[in-house]
Amino acid sequence: MTGKGKWPAAPELLANLFDERLVGAACVGRANLFDDHRHGEDEQQTADRHAEAARICGRCPVRDQCDTAAAELDRAASGVWAGRVRNAGRPIGRPPRVAS
Ligand code: SF4
Repeated sequence: MTGKGKWPAAPELLANLFDERLVGAACVGRANLFDDHRHGEDEQQTADRHAEAARICGRCPVRDQCDTAAAELDRAASGVWAGRVRNAGRPIGRPPRVAS
């Protein structure tokens, strides 16, 4: 959990509840590091936090499975998944920009 009254970040939620592929994930209990932008945080703080999250991903035994899960979720995956920041700052459900 990221705080009282808040939902856990998606990787932790999946690891704990939905996706058996992510059992044993190194991020369990560290979801606060993996969130997208957090209220009151400046860009450098977000970058530092995400770098810490990516280091955890680097030693995660289910990193490949996480990358697959993130690809399946596509734009619904935000924050750090499998060592990469996904959909930073993009609200879920917002259509991608299409070149004309
Ligand atoms: S690769 Fe990273 S985000 Fe994915 S399950 Fe492992 S620690 Fe969590």
